[in-house]
Amino acid sequence: MHEKYFLQAAETAKRATCHRAHCGSVIVSADGMVVGRGFNAPPLGDESQRTCDNEYHSDKKPKSDKTCCVHAEWNAILNALRDYPDKVAGATLYFMRIDDNGQFTQAGDPYCTVCSRLALQSGIKTFGLWNSGPQMYDTGLYNLKSYEYFA
Ligand SMILES: [Zn+2]
Ligand SMILES: [Zn+2]
Repeated sequence: MHEKYFLQAAETAKRATCHRAHCGSVIVSADGMVVGRGFNAPPLGDESQRTCDNEYHSDKKPKSDKTCCVHAEWNAILNALRDYPDKVAGATLYFMRIDDNGQFTQAGDPYCTVCSRLALQSGIKTFGLWNSGPQMYDTGLYNLKSYEYFA
């Protein structure tokens, strides 16, 4: 049952305009309704805000999250909160990064603490990654695990 939502997240990822990665996210409410979708792209699609192509040197780079664009998860969460504000608490978020051929990739371990905190704050109960199959985390555990990831 989780698989079809990862497939939908992969479909959504095809709309990503990020130059570094194509990611998609789908949010499904506790009663089984898709309430939000998102893909990674510059803020509001504004090309003047695109930072994917910036090159930074180790001695001079922004002190910030260096992953690029607005993450698919942020967009899905923001869309869900806008369109179905009462359906986000208790929902499940599915994340997928696709390769250049549109195929599923392995997500690995949780690491993005911005996504994990935003998901937690919005009331999302379960955070799903794909690692050769659905890997479903309680969002609180996902958040804590993200802080244990050291690059
Ligand atoms: Zn980007
Ligand atoms: Zn993230």
